[in-house]
Amino acid sequence: MVSETLKSDDLFECKQCGDCCKGYGGTFVTWEDIRRIAAFIDEDPDRFVKKYCQMSGTRPVLAQAENGYCVFWDKLCRIHPVKPRMCRQWPFILSVLIDLENWRIMAKSCSGIRTDISDALLESSLKCILLPDDRRL
Ligand code: SF4
Ligand code: SF4
Repeated sequence: MVSETLKSDDLFECKQCGDCCKGYGGTFVTWEDIRRIAAFIDEDPDRFVKKYCQMSGTRPVLAQAENGYCVFWDKLCRIHPVKPRMCRQWPFILSVLIDLENWRIMAKSCSGIRTDISDALLESSLKCILLPDDRRL
């Protein structure tokens, strides 16, 4: 029986490589995200959407710069303290927390995700993080 569990900081440490900040349509922004980011960069929320977002269906996503990266990527995330919920949660999102295989697949494209952990320890640790009070945010 596994009694030990690892905390989120032991399972993941962002290497700030920016690989997940590249490509179209990855980062949805909620209105709460928009308000926070707009305030941070001293922009009006409606203008923020026009200047920094593209629409994916009916939902705004952060726009891409010409180099293919998120408009807020410049060797580092320029809005790190207020980055969108999606970016803050990664990789502790439901589809990854409930599926070890998914964790290991995601680790292939994210160097911050640890994989040198046994399935048993990883499973118990991810279950602990998957708590109803949503401490991941
Ligand atoms: S791919 Fe992973 S390690 Fe690289 S910036 Fe994104 S979250 Fe961090
Ligand atoms: S907001 Fe920051 S962390 Fe999120 S995709 Fe853009 S540059 Fe990357």
